Amino acid sequence: MSDDCIFCRIIAGDIPCSKVYEDDQVLAFNDINPKAPVHVLVVPKVHFDRLHESDETHAEMLGRILVGVGKVASKTEVTGPGYRVQFNQERGAGQEVFHLHAHVTGGGPIPK
Ligand code: 5GP
Ligand code: ZN
Repeated sequence: MSDDCIFCRIIAGDIPCSKVYEDDQVLAFNDINPKAPVHVLVVPKVHFDRLHESDETHAEMLGRILVGVGKVASKTEVTGPGYRVQFNQERGAGQEVFHLHAHVTGGGPIPK
């Protein structure tokens, strides 16, 4: 938990979110500024910054993010028309929140 991390504060319940899915390792909630009809963020409950700082000890957590992505896709019914899963890494790629998260977008035209 990092006090100055917005997603840690959402996980802690200090900041509200519109929850889509939760299990023991991940929380998924609607993006506050959606770029598609369905735009959900899947975040690990432990604070972790960047994929390129991961090693084998993070394999379970990383895998559970993708399991969460699949649950979110089923729950939001984007599996038929199709959906995108995106991890922005570093500011040059548009990363703004440095708590690892997967964007799940779908439900309509999805800009690449
Ligand atoms: P990034 O640019 O880091 O890949 O994505 C961060 C995402 O988090 C953005 O799409 C932004 O709209 C979303 N976001 C930022 N702050 C909040 C918040 O307080 N609540 C929610 N639900 N989403 C947020
Ligand atoms: Zn965090």
